[in-house]
Amino acid sequence: MNYNDEIRSLREEFDLKDTVNLPVIKLANELGLKVRALDLNALRKGLSGVLRKNSEGQGEIIIDINHHPNRQRFTIAHEIAHFILHNNRKVDENMFETRINFTDKAENEKEKEANRFAAELLVPGDLLTREWDSLLIKETRLLALKFNVSESVLRRRVGELGLE
Ligand SMILES: [Zn+2]
Repeated sequence: MNYNDEIRSLREEFDLKDTVNLPVIKLANELGLKVRALDLNALRKGLSGVLRKNSEGQGEIIIDINHHPNRQRFTIAHEIAHFILHNNRKVDENMFETRINFTDKAENEKEKEANRFAAELLVPGDLLTREWDSLLIKETRLLALKFNVSESVLRRRVGELGLE
């Protein structure tokens, strides 16, 4: 299962087809979602991201202010995934929360889908293949910096695409 086509059309829609360092906050804003950073873990332990309708009726993504920027970017992409895949580009009163532990099986499945979509949104297969092919020395750390993601996310994508 991959989200190749969905990612391509989403990136095309916002003129981001060839953008290696994806401006995730700008993309969220263009989808009508505000992005805020709070001490989420203090509010509820294990909570790292929220997609919800705020008191003004606007959609918003909340990330944890204490997380590493790479992780914050991944969380924003993850919440964008919920917005597109599971919410039909709408926000309602029910919140999607990203927790460390999930109990409900359907929720667990949605979390997996959102993680998968987020990884592909940040590191699309066509862009990664192009960048990888242009490297003389195959160095994942440098590519991770280019894509502005953690090296573990980048390595996983390299493996999935069979580029090693
Ligand atoms: Zn989630």
